[in-house]
Amino acid sequence: MVEHYRPKNLTEALEWMAERKLIPVAGGTDLMIRARNWQGASRAMKGDVVYIQHLEELKFITETETDYHIGAGVTQAQFYDCKLLPDYAREVVGQMATPAIRNAATIGGNIVNAASVADLLPLLYAADAQIVLKSRDGQRVLPIQSFEIGKYMTARREDELMFEVILPKLKIKKYLYKKMGQRRSSILSKVSFLAIEVEGGTRIAIGAVNDTVVRSKELEKRINEGGGVKSVLDGYKALLNGSDDKRSTKRYRERVVINLLMKWMEEKR
Ligand SMILES: Cc1cc2nc3c(=O)[nH]c(=O)nc-3n(C[C@H](O)[C@H](O)[C@H](O)COP(=O)(O)OP(=O)(O)OC[C@H]3O[C@@H](n4cnc5c(N)ncnc54)[C@H](O)[C@@H]3O)c2cc1C
Repeated sequence: MVEHYRPKNLTEALEWMAERKLIPVAGGTDLMIRARNWQGASRAMKGDVVYIQHLEELKFITETETDYHIGAGVTQAQFYDCKLLPDYAREVVGQMATPAIRNAATIGGNIVNAASVADLLPLLYAADAQIVLKSRDGQRVLPIQSFEIGKYMTARREDELMFEVILPKLKIKKYLYKKMGQRRSSILSKVSFLAIEVEGGTRIAIGAVNDTVVRSKELEKRINEGGGVKSVLDGYKALLNGSDDKRSTKRYRERVVINLLMKWMEEKR
């Protein structure tokens, strides 16, 4: 029998998570697929659950001089509607799922679920975001690259909740975001590609092609220094190691990535 826990606040949630093994449930939009084994989802959800969607301590969007702070419990709809947040980030979230799903699905759920197709991840890699985790014993702050350690794998300990994501404020000169799928939204990405031009040059993050997001500072440096197009494209091709799956083929993904890279580099010249 599954036990259901509904804490009255964050402290109580963390207290319970320190004492027993619990699966946090936020919007439940990823978990419900696993719980019902829909679409043949292989990672069945088994265990007692703690509901966190109602916790006010996780629902905030604030800013400092250098960063935006976005609570893990902020929904995609709240993120998209928040005019404080930069356009390039809101555009990514605006293309996720459907309005109904966006009303329930949280930012924290997308990040902690760590799917290779999670659309928030390329944005967070490109921005060099940080993830804040809380437990009864304290807090840890990890760069996104150290938090996402593989497909459906993060560095979160079982007694920790994701508390917030810290998104650095960037001076964006221009950006290109393309999400490729069967339909524009309500469909998981075949490729999600984000290129941004900031002070200091280009940053490129590519999602849904490998187990985790592709970002290469070495290749970005090559682009910024005006390196040959072929050497840049070959460099990215060598990084794409995904395989064919039910959404798409490796060949299609590679072609899309190469076309978007060429478009970006042409526009940059
Ligand atoms: C129809 C449909 C369309 C979708 N479209 C897209 C899409 O276009 N792009 C996309 O990227 N995703 C999409 N998704 C996937 C999903 O909606 C998102 O990943 C969503 O952001 C998950 O958030 P959630 O709050 O529902 O997470 P949940 O399902 O509640 O949780 C997901 C995982 O994160 C953990 N978790 C949640 N919050 C925390 C926390 N604060 N601390 C620690 N662990 C936590 C849970 O234990 C679980 O393992 C879609 C899903 C559906 C059903």
